[in-house]
Amino acid sequence: MHPNMVRSILTPDDYRRVYEILDTSPLDFDCGDLCAKRCCQEYQPGVGMYLLPGEEKLFTGNEPWLKWSFKQAEDQDFPPEWKGYVAFVECNSNCPREKRPIQCRTFPLMPYMDLRGNLTVRLDVLNGVFLCPLVRYPQKHPLRSEFRQRVLEAWRILVSDPLICSDVAWQSRNLDRDIRSPWRKLLQRVTFFRPPEYQ
Ligand code: SF4
Ligand code: SF4
Repeated sequence: MHPNMVRSILTPDDYRRVYEILDTSPLDFDCGDLCAKRCCQEYQPGVGMYLLPGEEKLFTGNEPWLKWSFKQAEDQDFPPEWKGYVAFVECNSNCPREKRPIQCRTFPLMPYMDLRGNLTVRLDVLNGVFLCPLVRYPQKHPLRSEFRQRVLEAWRILVSDPLICSDVAWQSRNLDRDIRSPWRKLLQRVTFFRPPEYQ
């Protein structure tokens, strides 16, 4: 691991608890059957995911299904409070299910914090609109309510870390801007795509 990682107040045990809460699935059947596990494929060159600060402690760095790199937070789309390096992992689409990182467990939901600090979860239209049928066709594939509840419960624990909380607020403002953007309005006009929670 990099010696100057963005630090977290969450412990490995906190992360293990969050992983346990997130041992659940969005649908009653394997949603990968709908799309040939698209989010686990290299659908764009170099696609991967960031681990949350401190999550890297659950890994050795030698997992054969992960390729690691470390990115300076200040150069990426993170809030200015994030100083140091964050782990970025690319996978070979073959990871053990119990080792899935948080981002893989919570997708296709993302945490959303309103301007008053209220936390909810929403469909991740920032990353999922062209990728995931559960985001693209939410009426056809409604998520299990237990999945929504567990993802929210997990994020409630995660945002107890002030840096993760600031990132959730940061990404929520990104989502607000994206929802109001001209390209999103065009997409709605052309495809009638508009998830219920954004109406
Ligand atoms: S989360 Fe979406 S993209 Fe990923 S496997 Fe399920 S349906 Fe496919
Ligand atoms: S780490 Fe695992 S769950 Fe996440 S995208 Fe890769 S194969 Fe899929």
